[in-house]
Amino acid sequence: MKKVSFVQPNFNWGPVHLDIYFLPYSAGLLWAYANQFSEVQDNYCFGEFVWRRDKISDVVERLKDCSVVGFSTYIWNRKYNYALAEELKKANPDCLIVFGGPEVPVSRKDLFALHPYMDVVILQEGEHNFYEVLKGNLECPGMIVNKNGVRVDTGVSSRFNDLTLIPSPYLTKVFDHLLVEFPNVIWNGTLESNRGCPYQCTFCDWGSLTYSKVKKYNLEQVFAEIEWFADNKTEHINLTDANYGIFPERDMMIAEKLSEQRRLKGYPKLFNTNWAKNQKQSVVDIISTLIDGGFNAGLTLSLQTSTEQVLKNIKRTNLETNKVKEVFELCDKRNIPCYTELILGLPGETLESWTDNFYDLYEAGNHTGIAVYQCQLLENAEMNVIQRKEYNLKSIQVKDYFEGGTNDYFDDIVEDNAIVVSTRDLPLEEMIKAYMIAWFHKTFHIGGITNYIARFVHKFSDESYKSFYSKFQEYIMQDPYMIDEYKRVSNSVRQWYTTGDIDAQNIGGIPVYGENMLISTVWKLHIDNKLDYIYNTIGDFVKQEYKFVFTDQLIDFQKNCTLVHEKLEQYPIKQNYDYNFYGYIVNDSLLEQPVINIYENRDNTIVPKDIFVHKIWFQRRNEYGKAKISLST
Ligand code: SF4
Repeated sequence: MKKVSFVQPNFNWGPVHLDIYFLPYSAGLLWAYANQFSEVQDNYCFGEFVWRRDKISDVVERLKDCSVVGFSTYIWNRKYNYALAEELKKANPDCLIVFGGPEVPVSRKDLFALHPYMDVVILQEGEHNFYEVLKGNLECPGMIVNKNGVRVDTGVSSRFNDLTLIPSPYLTKVFDHLLVEFPNVIWNGTLESNRGCPYQCTFCDWGSLTYSKVKKYNLEQVFAEIEWFADNKTEHINLTDANYGIFPERDMMIAEKLSEQRRLKGYPKLFNTNWAKNQKQSVVDIISTLIDGGFNAGLTLSLQTSTEQVLKNIKRTNLETNKVKEVFELCDKRNIPCYTELILGLPGETLESWTDNFYDLYEAGNHTGIAVYQCQLLENAEMNVIQRKEYNLKSIQVKDYFEGGTNDYFDDIVEDNAIVVSTRDLPLEEMIKAYMIAWFHKTFHIGGITNYIARFVHKFSDESYKSFYSKFQEYIMQDPYMIDEYKRVSNSVRQWYTTGDIDAQNIGGIPVYGENMLISTVWKLHIDNKLDYIYNTIGDFVKQEYKFVFTDQLIDFQKNCTLVHEKLEQYPIKQNYDYNFYGYIVNDSLLEQPVINIYENRDNTIVPKDIFVHKIWFQRRNEYGKAKISLST
């Protein structure tokens, strides 16, 4: 019998002290599909899944007697996979090395000069062609074959018309041995109810280039997989549908099944997905069902930008602005946390249009969370392959973009990604300014330091967010503490954009990297015990600018909305005011009425300060660090 193994390693997906990993779903699909055929059953035995970044030399020892090894490759394991495959080929030149996944540089003519250890690269959906490879057929369409260093393309393959031909790796017990062998690992699962995406976003190398028409899995199989997740205490489910909610009835049934299982068995506990872009009512209904079922599911609207021309450039279809506003209002009414995502560095974005993104979102009613990502050039995405030249996109390979990228303890290979650091419309210096605009908004509005003050001024004084924050920014950026913070962050981002190494100092023991540096000033305010100081400065600004008779109470109200570590044992905290700021801002209540506000710690835990601060980052989607507010009756 020949042995076949699969490599789909991932990072630990959470704080270092927790062993949280995704089951290697893509690799599991390959084996579940191939192993249903007698040619495979009769000739191959299963070796192992490499699901974690174990030391390369150890893995080579384990895999060197394999006849075939399949590598599933994406941005988080590319360098590891290349290094492992190279060493494995040296240890056993007869081992057939098969690569697949969105990150293999398949458009490069010199593919096998770059990666001579690859024998076969499978394009697009891998299940059927991996089976063909196991049968020894290296000529069917959808492969690139290394024939003595010469690249041989076998043509374009067709997609699966019927996804029911692919057995579930969960239901065929492909992963059962992992659950037994690694009982202390907290496993996350990948659920796929359909495949394909009708959109063509140019930054994406998955939906846009790989598939178009959406094909569905059998609903009974999806339900059975959800039961498997619940029965096996799978903590977190990532539903990989590119547009969940696009099939309102069917997708609602999936939400109901998830909720039913969670209610019955307590699992899965967490859920995330990519929401449909144009089905506002059905998406909100589905989220309500998930929340009723016990999931802490908020809505993430991945807008990327609100700038019309940029949306055209990236071929992105979003909800129209007025509909976005309706979604926020619907979420607000149903108490559903709303999250949006922006990407910095998209083609055509200018410093001014980038800044306006934040104000557009505030005006539309999004105050709970805006994630900012640096634009990445993914290997096979249209933006990398075609638009790079047109928009003069310059990139640098950066390490430490994601937290997981540096916290693994088994290997010393650091993954990197190409981020856009300069464009035709945002040259490097402007890009740094744009990053610092994001830092300012992430600190003050999204970080929950001035959000209610800004909303109050917007409503009470009918002043635009742009006007309020332009004045506030000018004022606060003269403060010595904030000047130092600006220098600290802008120096790090300059270093990051120019050398690829952020080299930022840890804050309170928390590593600072590309993605979380934007909110590091919020942590620092906590660590340095500077919250009183900053609120005094904010109070001075409001007094100088607005001359409200109730400024002190307004500032106190906002200050109490920030959870303070030193008070963790005192929550819930009650506070009397002569004005109903919260009701006025959120529910149009009468302002001039005495109220008692109750401020609660959302998760009721008392933790050391470093963990408290770290949770502000890790649990940002649950708004950790911001008190839950209600009115006492
Ligand atoms: S980003 Fe999402 S919506 Fe756009 S092409 Fe990719 S998968 Fe589809």
